Amino acid sequence: MKVLVTGGAGYIGSHTVLTLLAENHSVVVFDNLCNSSIEAIKRVERLSGKSVTFIQGDVCDKAQLNELFIGHDIDAVIHFAALKAVGQSTQMPLEYYQNNVYGSLCLLEVMQLHQVNNFVFSSSATVYGEEAQPPYLETIKLGTTASPYGATKVMVERIIEDFVKANNAFRAVSLRYFNPIGAHESGEIGEDPLGIPNNLLPYIAQVAVGKRDKLSIFGNDYDTEDGTCKRDYLHVMDLAQGHVAALDWLENNPNFNGAEVFNLGTGNAVSVLEIVAAFEQAYGKTLAYEFAPRRSGDLPAFWADASKANSQLNWQAKRSLLQMMTDTWRWQSNNPNGY
Ligand code: NAD
Ligand code: UDP
Repeated sequence: MKVLVTGGAGYIGSHTVLTLLAENHSVVVFDNLCNSSIEAIKRVERLSGKSVTFIQGDVCDKAQLNELFIGHDIDAVIHFAALKAVGQSTQMPLEYYQNNVYGSLCLLEVMQLHQVNNFVFSSSATVYGEEAQPPYLETIKLGTTASPYGATKVMVERIIEDFVKANNAFRAVSLRYFNPIGAHESGEIGEDPLGIPNNLLPYIAQVAVGKRDKLSIFGNDYDTEDGTCKRDYLHVMDLAQGHVAALDWLENNPNFNGAEVFNLGTGNAVSVLEIVAAFEQAYGKTLAYEFAPRRSGDLPAFWADASKANSQLNWQAKRSLLQMMTDTWRWQSNNPNGY
């Protein structure tokens, strides 16, 4: 297939592009580089020995998207492009709704114009909201999300559901990611956040490489075995393979039309202290940390029921926690300043 990957220079996008190339898909990346570097694409090309068509542009620019679809015979779109910092979204809600919701509307509109009908959307476990009881199952209704970021994911899922009802040819898969971490095993591509990392693993990796003093663990008085929050961490390469599995599923189900959602997680919950211990194993030293107050909006524990993706997409997260840590550390130590 010829696959358009929006946000393909980003963390999950770059790993997915590499996986798509390995499966002999051809790839057009469309990215405005607001949170990524063109170097990621160059490294993907080097690792794969294949070339990627890169177009710098914004998904809110319908004219540019229109030109792209005129110039390329696209079979399917994987839509990663979005702003993703939960905390920042509470400070800049309008930018988040504009970029994530309006950007998705523009893309769907131009896809409809060009009758490109296969769509894979980057959703998130955050759509289950604050009330849902883990493990999260796809049959649980969309919840009330704590942040504007989460609200944009709920809104786009709703838009997709409504759109497929009105457009019989359109076929969409929303993939609800749990906590992607790790890096490609080459250590050549990985997560490269701008500024102070918000997420746990990039922060730990920067402490290990000497860029930050110590990790603050947000809360050790939660109702979990060791008092720290638990999440379902999965390797980014397993997640990347989930996207290929979703495209295969669309291709193998030519009579499907509508919208499907799948959780992509391991089904296991791991605490922050367990993450620190696993990272130390890969790192070979102890990691400096302190306990700090809870971070507002954090839920004590959630994890996926990934059985739907297991049975229907024939997908399973295979890589171990230790491999996630080893690959994170290889990436960070080989690239202390990112790209
Ligand atoms: P990322 O920031 O590394 O990648 C997003 C990419 O989209 C970046 O390259 C950025 O430059 C690009 N982009 C943003 N706005 C754009 C626009 N208007 N036009 C064109 N390009 C634009 O983030 P990521 O971690 O790779 O996340 C990818 C997707 O997965 C996002 O939709 C995110 O919300 C979703 N997601 C991420 C996580 C996670 O923990 N990383 C979890 C659940 C869902
Ligand atoms: N966390 C932490 N210190 C940090 C960053 C994160 O203790 O510097 C904790 C956070 O409270 C949560 C877990 O690590 O329990 C995962 O946080 P992250 O932001 O990576 O993912 P989230 O599940 O919030 O999307």
